Amino acid sequence: MLFKQIKAVGDNFTYVIADTSAREAAVVDPSFNIKPIIKILEENRLRLKYIICTHHHFDHTAEVDFLKTRFGAKIVAHKVSDIDKDIGVEDGSIVEVGSIKINVIHTPGHTEDSICLLFDNKLLTGDTLFVGGCGRTDLPGGNAEKLYQSLYNKILKLDDSIEIYPGHDYGSSPSSTIGLEKSFNPALKQKGMDDFLTFINAP
Ligand SMILES: [Zn+2]
Repeated sequence: MLFKQIKAVGDNFTYVIADTSAREAAVVDPSFNIKPIIKILEENRLRLKYIICTHHHFDHTAEVDFLKTRFGAKIVAHKVSDIDKDIGVEDGSIVEVGSIKINVIHTPGHTEDSICLLFDNKLLTGDTLFVGGCGRTDLPGGNAEKLYQSLYNKILKLDDSIEIYPGHDYGSSPSSTIGLEKSFNPALKQKGMDDFLTFINAP
């Protein structure tokens, strides 16, 4: 398996996931950084099968159309997303790239169409969970109660050993683990919904 985290202009992260034996790849959240993505695909002679969007915000989708046109890949996003997608997924969907099975977890809150992607003990968290923080909920479609449910009832139920890879480089390191975030991330240390709402609504 090939797994690459690529930092874009600004602090967005894009990810390339590939089964190098099957020569199939998926790109997650292609942002303002098309050249390194193309280089990885071409150097490894990978066929881009899917472009997966963790949510619809422009800084995560800026290069989606370019990649689709150039490589003929299919766009994958949550079924409620207003992204012009080929495949609409939902909680529990599995996206297959060669022998890699990418499990979709619906995690609304930052946006209604937010998804996290779980495969190979790695969780791509988009703008749902960052290293040391979580996504904002004050943009259109944001919902702090839903983010609480997504974080505490879905992500925190996963194994502590799972590595997390966020959509932005906002933290002290570019990746972390569920266990470390449980210990240090204030967004995951609130005692119930009320405390979380106070935390997230704090100026
Ligand atoms: Zn966002």
